[in-house]
Amino acid sequence: MSATGQPALAEAKRLVVKIGSALLVDEASGALRQDWLNALADDLAVQKDRGAEVIVVSSGSIALGRRHLGLTRKAVRLEEQQAAAATGQIRLAHAYQSALGRHDITVAQILLTLADTEQRRRHLNARNTLNTLLRLGAVPVINENDTVATTEIRFGDNDRLAARVAAMMNADALVLLSDIDGLYSADPKLDSSARFIPLVATITGQIEAMAGRAPVGYSSGGMVTKLQAARIAVAGGCRMVIADGRRKHPLAALADGARCTWFLAGVEPLTARKRWIAGSLKPTGRLVVDAGALRALQSGRSLLPAGVTAVEGLFERGDAVVVLGTDGVEVARGLCAYSAREARLILGHKSSEIEARLGYRGREELIHRDDLVLM
Ligand code: GLU
Repeated sequence: MSATGQPALAEAKRLVVKIGSALLVDEASGALRQDWLNALADDLAVQKDRGAEVIVVSSGSIALGRRHLGLTRKAVRLEEQQAAAATGQIRLAHAYQSALGRHDITVAQILLTLADTEQRRRHLNARNTLNTLLRLGAVPVINENDTVATTEIRFGDNDRLAARVAAMMNADALVLLSDIDGLYSADPKLDSSARFIPLVATITGQIEAMAGRAPVGYSSGGMVTKLQAARIAVAGGCRMVIADGRRKHPLAALADGARCTWFLAGVEPLTARKRWIAGSLKPTGRLVVDAGALRALQSGRSLLPAGVTAVEGLFERGDAVVVLGTDGVEVARGLCAYSAREARLILGHKSSEIEARLGYRGREELIHRDDLVLM
């Protein structure tokens, strides 16, 4: 840790580096910036040489593939994006292979969909493959499987995909290489008094407000998805940094103290199962809890029906739900022991009344503390 309280990149044993399309692909020509990628590969080789395991999450398949299919208009339809991804991904993988091959590093391609990380069995399977590749010394290069992922079943942005991978793989640092050097108190393009934030120990509502709103009609990228990624990563015990990737050798610059924003990892070391819960991207319901229940959760206790004031959404027993405080800010995630219909019948009631209200005796807790992660 440096004098500023920022963690050092060199401390990371298992590192995930996310690279955005804007860094890899020249906007005007649609061509891959191989020089930049070679310089990044040099940085990745340095990390590997010092003994770190390295996973890359790279965008760029759509941006790269468009030109080769003659899709030069600005707006392309989803099926055209999928077609572009199918051709761009080959080029992307090839570019990584040649850049990392210069250092005799073997590249392995993994294409994931949302379900591969959300469904526990597929999640474990993907994790096994990645662990095997790391053990064998390869660098996995991951992207979303855009050719088959339609809107509803899509991550849509590689910031959250990278955070999900970092949590899934128990990585200790996630680097988001971006076209901005970190988080500001307001959008620095719009507000000249915006302050730079070098370190975030806890992602509060105030920090979230700094990201502003997601750009209209634009689901991927931006500070909003970066903060969502930070939440997933830190809850999974992984620290995260947003750093400027536009320069060549961005990881070397980061190691040399370039300006960046670090988000510190959550203090509670989580089990693999809890990391999976924390990272679930599509919780199907929401439970609002009162101040007393909130204090109980924060001191490590389970969520009882008595502390719940509202149940929103449709979910079945065992589904992932979000827990909100009365101010609407997310405080936890967990697997609910009752369906939404049952939860509505028992909310606000003592656990001893569950049997009378439902006609059978279930668990005392709505979410047991083993199934709950504070966010
Ligand atoms: N998976 C998309 C691609 O490779 C990029 C998603 C994003 O922009 O984060 O083109």
